[in-house]
This record gives sequence, structure tokens and C-alpha cells, in this order.
Amino acid sequence: MISVLVEVEKNIKNVVVNKITKNQETNQRKLNINGGKMNKKQIILRSSLGSVFSAFDNPELIELSEEDSRIVAISGRINNPGIYEIPEGTTLREAIELAGGIMNKKDFKAAQFGIPFGGFFTKEQLDAPINFNDFHKGQTRNLVILSEDDCIVQFSKFYIEFLLGKIAKGEYREYLPAKYEIDRINRILDRISKGKATMRDVYLLRYLSDIVKSIVKQDHNLILEVIDNFYHEIEEHIEEHRCYTGECPQLVKFRITSKCIGCTACARACPVHCISGKVKEKHEIDISKCTHCGQCVAACPVGAINEGDNTLKFLRDLATPNKIVVTQMAPAVRVALGEAFGFEAGTNIEKKINEALRMLGVDYVFDTAWAADLTIMEEATEFQERLEKYFKGDDNVKLPILTSCCPSWVKFIEQSYPDMLDVPSSVKSPMSIFSTVVKDIWAKEKGYARNQITAVAIMPCLAKKYEAARDEFSRGDNYDTDYVITTRELIKILKETEIDVANLEGEEFDNPLGEYSGAGIIFGRTGGVIEAATRTAVEMLTGNRVDQIEFDVLRGWDGFRSAEVQVTEDVTLKIGIAHGLEEAAKMLDKIRAGEEFYHAIEIMACKGGCIGGGGQPKAMKKKEVLEKRAEGLNNIDRSLEIRRSHENPQVLAIYEKYLDYPMSRKAHELLHTKYFPKIKG
Ligand code: SF4
Ligand code: SF4
Ligand code: SF4
Repeated sequence: MISVLVEVEKNIKNVVVNKITKNQETNQRKLNINGGKMNKKQIILRSSLGSVFSAFDNPELIELSEEDSRIVAISGRINNPGIYEIPEGTTLREAIELAGGIMNKKDFKAAQFGIPFGGFFTKEQLDAPINFNDFHKGQTRNLVILSEDDCIVQFSKFYIEFLLGKIAKGEYREYLPAKYEIDRINRILDRISKGKATMRDVYLLRYLSDIVKSIVKQDHNLILEVIDNFYHEIEEHIEEHRCYTGECPQLVKFRITSKCIGCTACARACPVHCISGKVKEKHEIDISKCTHCGQCVAACPVGAINEGDNTLKFLRDLATPNKIVVTQMAPAVRVALGEAFGFEAGTNIEKKINEALRMLGVDYVFDTAWAADLTIMEEATEFQERLEKYFKGDDNVKLPILTSCCPSWVKFIEQSYPDMLDVPSSVKSPMSIFSTVVKDIWAKEKGYARNQITAVAIMPCLAKKYEAARDEFSRGDNYDTDYVITTRELIKILKETEIDVANLEGEEFDNPLGEYSGAGIIFGRTGGVIEAATRTAVEMLTGNRVDQIEFDVLRGWDGFRSAEVQVTEDVTLKIGIAHGLEEAAKMLDKIRAGEEFYHAIEIMACKGGCIGGGGQPKAMKKKEVLEKRAEGLNNIDRSLEIRRSHENPQVLAIYEKYLDYPMSRKAHELLHTKYFPKIKG
């Protein structure tokens, strides 16, 4: 078979076209993408879940398609995405084979021809020859292959958002008269993906899609064809709030798949003992007790636990025109991600990650550590207020104050200690604070609507996926954090897209949400949140600047440790620190029984804190690696001029301009939350 393969050289300004003939003679020519002005942006974005062309609308790719009537860009769940010549009479099955076959030998689900005009083909059409008349003239010919692992709702959403992005850019003008209907279709698909739709919405989808089909005189309408072919999958999203693929972030639940070999490692790692099963048999999770900590995922040797993977969603968002993709990165990510690229654990590679994210197409690269400083401003003020009342003899004041930035721990207390929900600090986590500020303050300042922004959090943590999906952190159907990418998921993308992370020069964060203090960065290790809060609280309580801000008594590796910090001659604070939920339970039991008293407690669900999160790279010598990651964060802290949250000029500026002062009414509205007794999967 004669084939033309366009190999995309990663990380370069042009594309090499290799014409491979029957006798393997090679005829090369250059295809300059955007006239050679691609900067360092990637053309094919990949993860181990699939691929997306980021240059769908590139004029030269279109030109190439027009030059040769049988050239098609193939992407999706196939092993070798690229641009191929499809000879006359080639069937869909043969085209898939030409592109390396479907990933992980999964079953074919559907294929979409051309975005957004083409057809939508299912299994029945696998052996029919590809009809080139299905591709629309003047557009790149695309073939997107879906496997059984693809969520049909997420794919439909991508398709519609892509179309809307094109219309917003002034392209596909024939769709303009149907824009009202397409906008409504988009909102309905969004509701379905979040488990917020009713079956009436399926009727509306049909109704609106019929109108679009008639206005634009389409031969094929993807949404109508999706409803006809995958009605039950849509119904499952609506009626059962279930996305079997784990691609819909708001519907994700931990699930053990058929890959399970019954080794019991997950059951032994689970801090709340909610996994059961016999040796060598498939295990099950009692989701009503699960805290989403992810320790089971980290322990499973065969990757049998599906925790919801957002890498393909991220790549699709990056490829969608007119979407503004904003990332934040948690402190613990930067000292662990490098392990996958040959760096010693604990090496801070934040600048290289920033550059790599921009190469993928992220529009703004910000830092969660900035929001950690804002968290501390609120948490330390709340602590100060409670302490002042306590020292005045107010019996109603709730102490200890418990830090609340770990969603796994928050879910644990909501499920198991519903009588103690007034003790955690009401301050949102740095991730949620960051996303609120981005969507409610920064976006407005930039002139963007809230729903134009896709806020992606790069986290060491699987429980953050659950936190992002909590309704408290949303406005209507728009969630503050759209979804979370874990450190391991980002590694998969960077490796598959072949970004040479080790050799990147590195770039700074975008500002103003990129500058952080040393206090903001140590959040990532056990004892770090309470140490950061103590740095600010002690200075607030005494009114004096303290020279010694490294509180060694708060550091260490014991699962449950307590320390005393002398603030003044008369005031000594008793502080507790727990990492691991079993240790936290012991501490809470003693407090509830009145056997122990603390002024403040930090609890993190993972051993070592977020540096040991369930989304971090797996480590063989775990303790050693965790110590190095923790030291990496301490080194960043020591290297910074500003090491106290209340001295971060960008944090002070946001109070001056928008929030007035810590714990103000405006700050409460945006930066605080409430906890509820709940049994939730
Ligand atoms: S996520 Fe955590 S709590 Fe849930 S099953 Fe896994 S180990 Fe247990
Ligand atoms: S660790 Fe993985 S393979 Fe072992 S029992 Fe748990 S899910 Fe099954
Ligand atoms: S300790 Fe950190 S990584 Fe672990 S669950 Fe809590 S927030 Fe997530």
C-alpha cells in the first residue's frame, strides 16, 4: 500500500513530509507551519490515552489536504497519529491499521470524519470504503478515532466547543445563523457531563440539532447520530450520574477494574479500610466510605484502579479555538515531576514545567503557591480571632482550629466526625481559592467571561479531583476548578508528546498570580501548612517581626506529633500535626473525648503530606524520596527573600484592590466555605 506519512518533528518550527513509495524511496519536502512561526508549540498533542491535532485549522495543513485529495490527518485513540494518504477504496478498518491500530487493543467505538462538517461512523461502517466526498472542501481532512474507552458525551462536547470556537473566530460562517441553537446544545451537553441534566434535555438536543441540520443543510449531524447510536450512555450520565469511562470530572468515582489480580495491596494501603476482597479475586471499594485519598491507586501494582483521567480532556481543550486555558501548579508537583525525566527527587523544575506547559498551548501559567499565601492570610486571621476570644474566656470559641486544605481529610471528618464540623478552618484550599480568584477577579479584569476560562489545576493529589467537583465550589454549572491533572498525568502528556523537559531552559510563571513566599511553598510537606500559618499568626498576635521563622518543633516524620510554640512570655501554643488518616482519627478521638487539647492542628491524608500524594510519581524507596521532596521545598523556602505570606506584595495588592482585609465580607464570600455531614460517593 502506498502511503504518505507526515512525521511531525516535535518541538520544531516545521513539519517534514516523508513520501514513502512502494519500493521505500523517500522523497522529502518541508511544510512550514504558520510560515515557520509555530514558536515551540506542539502540533500533535499526545498522552497514553490518545492524541489531538493542535493545528486542525492550520492553513498549510488545509493546503496540503487540497493538494492531494487523499491526505487525511488521523488522531484520537490510535497508536501513531499523523497525516496519511488513504488510497482509493481504503476502508475505515484499514485506515485505522495504517495509523498503528487502536491503543491498548481496545474495541472501536466510532470515528468522526472532518470537524465539524463530516460524518460520524460506527462499527457497521468499519468495512466500508472511506468516501472522500464526506470531507468538507476547504478544511483539513480529519479522522478522529474513538475507542470503547471514550466518553461519547465528552467527545460531543469537544466537537461542539470546537465549532463554537471557530464561529467566534469568524470562520464557518454558514453556521452563524444556527449559533443560538449550537450554544444551547453546548450548555445541555455540559449539564449531561456534570450529572445535572434530565431526560427532557435529550429531547431538546434532538430538537435543536434538527434545526441546525436544516439551517446549515448538513448531510450528517453528529449530535443526532450520537443520540441514535449511544442513547444508553447518555441516559446513564443523566439517570445514574455515571460515566463509565471516568472522563467526566464531576462524575468520577474510584472503581476497581477487571485488571485486578487480587494482590490485596490496595486494601492494606487504604486508611479507612473501605476495600475488601479475597486474595487472587477482584476487590471492591465501598464508595460511601472512600475519602478519595488515592493511596490505593499508588499501591496497585497493575494499574487496576480507575480514578478518572483528564489528560485527553486537557489536550482537547488546548486544541479548541478561543478557549483560554489557565493552569495552576501545586508546590509538591515541582519537586517530584523531574523524577520522570532523570532529575533527583526534590529538584525544583518549576521553570521547565512552565515552558513545557506553554509548548502544549496553555495560555496562562500560574502558581498555586501564590494562593497558598492568600489561604494563610485568611487562616492565620481566623486563628488569631479564635485565640483572642479564647484568651478572653469565651467558652463558645472552637479550638483547636483544624487546617482544611486537604479534601480527603475534609471528606473524612464530614463522614466520620459530623459533630466536629465547626472546628476546621472555613478557609477554602489554595486550589479552590486560586480558581475563584482567577474566574471572579482576574478574568473580569482581563475582560473575559467566567465560562471562557478553563481553569486546570496540576496537583499531586487524586482527592483534588473530588474537591474540584464539589458543588460548593461552583456557580451554577460552572465549576471554579474545571478539572485536575495529576503529576503522573502531566508526565504522561509530556513524555508522549516528546517534550524534552530535561533540556528546556525554563520560563517564569505568569503574573500577577505567580509570585509566592517561602511560606506558600512549604504547604506541600507535612507540617508546612501549620508552619506557614504560625509564621503569620505569631507576628499578628505579637505585632513584632520574628527572626527565627523555621519552626523546627513543627517538622519531622512521626505520623502524629505535637509541639509547643512560645509566642510571648504568657502565651504558648500547643500544635498537633498528623499525616495519614489513621493518625488523624486517633487525634480526633482524643480531642472529642476531652483527653487532649490543642490550639491548632494540621491534618494531611497522605504520608509526608502532598509530596506523598496519590497522584505523584510512584517511588521505590518511598521514605527516602519523600524526605528529598520535602527538603526540595525547604530549599526553595530558604532561597526566597519573601518567606512570610503577609509580606507577599501581590497578595497584599489583591486585598487593597478587591478584598479589603482578611476575613472581610468580600473575603468570606470568595475565599471561605462550609462543611456538611455527608455520605457521598
Ligand atoms: S481512595 Fe483512599 S479511601 Fe478511597 S478506597 Fe482508595 S485508599 Fe481507600
Ligand atoms: S492493589 Fe490492584 S491488583 Fe491488588 S487487589 Fe487492589 S486493585 Fe487488585
Ligand atoms: S495530603 Fe495533599 S495530596 Fe494527600 S489527599 Fe491531602 S491534599 Fe491531596
